[in-house]
Amino acid sequence: MVRKCLAAIAVVGLSVSTASAQDAKTVISNASKAMGVESLNSIHFYGTAQNGNLGQNNNANQPWPMAAMNDYVRAIDFSKATSRATWASYAVPVTGGRATLVVGTPQTQQLITPETTAWAQQLEIWVTPWGFLKGAAANNATVRAQTVNGQRYQTVTWNSPFKSPGGQAYRLVGYINSQNFVERVQTWVENPVFGDMLVEAEYTQYRDNNGLKYPAQIVQKRGGWPTFEMYVLGAHANPASLQALLTPTPPPAGRGGGPGGAGRAGGPGGAPAPTSEKLAEGVFRINGAYNALAVEFADHIVLFEPGPQNEARALAIIAETKKVIPNKPIRYGVISHHHFDHTSGLPAVVAEGITIVTPEVNRTFLMNALSGPRTLAPDSQSKSGKKPVIEGFKGDRRVFQDSTRTFELHVIQGLPHADGNVVGYLPKEKILVYADMFNLPTAEAPVPDPPVVGTGVFADNIDRLKLDVERIMSVHSLNPDRLTSVADIKASLGRK
Ligand SMILES: [Zn+2]
Repeated sequence: MVRKCLAAIAVVGLSVSTASAQDAKTVISNASKAMGVESLNSIHFYGTAQNGNLGQNNNANQPWPMAAMNDYVRAIDFSKATSRATWASYAVPVTGGRATLVVGTPQTQQLITPETTAWAQQLEIWVTPWGFLKGAAANNATVRAQTVNGQRYQTVTWNSPFKSPGGQAYRLVGYINSQNFVERVQTWVENPVFGDMLVEAEYTQYRDNNGLKYPAQIVQKRGGWPTFEMYVLGAHANPASLQALLTPTPPPAGRGGGPGGAGRAGGPGGAPAPTSEKLAEGVFRINGAYNALAVEFADHIVLFEPGPQNEARALAIIAETKKVIPNKPIRYGVISHHHFDHTSGLPAVVAEGITIVTPEVNRTFLMNALSGPRTLAPDSQSKSGKKPVIEGFKGDRRVFQDSTRTFELHVIQGLPHADGNVVGYLPKEKILVYADMFNLPTAEAPVPDPPVVGTGVFADNIDRLKLDVERIMSVHSLNPDRLTSVADIKASLGRK
């Protein structure tokens, strides 16, 4: 039976690929004619858009938070594989109040050139309906007929000349509908949390401008949720103003590189920062741009925030932990919350055989994300062949305890920043570790008015849980870098 099936698949496979070589040219040519792509060298389209912040959702199971991109304009020169998009963004201050215009080119302009950008950006040219057809015509595309949700499509596949860090060509798949319009394009790009992450763009409500067909609505999803949505108000083929549209906006005068991180890492010329410090017997702060806390038990170690930022940071945290607490396995790694700046090193944590501990609300998301293929950019997890082990704990607390020590995890309640945000608490040592709640007061506003929501929530939770805390360690280094106290936090709220 098995052999018969294999034989049947082989025959079918053969007939499809023979047919596709002949049909692909026709399908691409018909779609190019129908969409006005044949004489198209460049395009300009504009409208109103919004941008989804990948990995920063308030709940691991909900969409990425969206921010408006007003006056969105994109120009693409297909012959040179260059593109520029500009928009205006407004941000609400953390203390609330009126949104103000964001000034600064990285937040309001995207430039794409063949030399300087990764596929994550370059794909913005090739997943457009027009770019997809141009790429397909130039790159030995294949085609097959497919029915999706009762609709008949010609599915065209081609490999981009761009190569992933693992040396693979990035693949594109486009769905061409019965009107010969490109309705959906898929590609895959490496992502530290998702591995080979699907990028899917949908194009609907097609309109016409002098033979150029353009979708009035664009939805691009990454990691399952929209990262870009646009209502296209107009599009022009071969715009006369192309050079002006592609010319970068210079950065605003008189500005340096932005606020920059806290100075823990030791800048150029500065003394190298200590890589760890002992806070109590068997308790170490592992220092970096994102700090971790290593807690020693009789026969193992628990790490709080084991995988922030990226694989390199997670490997450094693991190495330093083994140095300060030798000859014991790191058994558990507790993440503060699911945001990707706190989880992008988790593949290295999985590779080390560490059980990831997090509230149940985050478990399924992380399990799915860390279980997909990781072929585009092989990492320590894919090389180890290990599967993620994730303990999702139910309820509001999880306690690690043996004859030597107690380390409690408490789930913070009422925090808008993220559901399932946990703090770690050492009752005997009176040490608390947390992330992303206490916003530092500034010189201008030592008591922010109105108060920062996260700071208030943090103080309320310490009171609610009746935690007896003397030293508070932040995953993000404070500026100046220090351990803080309940009194510090209450003072920044104007509370006693
Ligand atoms: Zn966060």
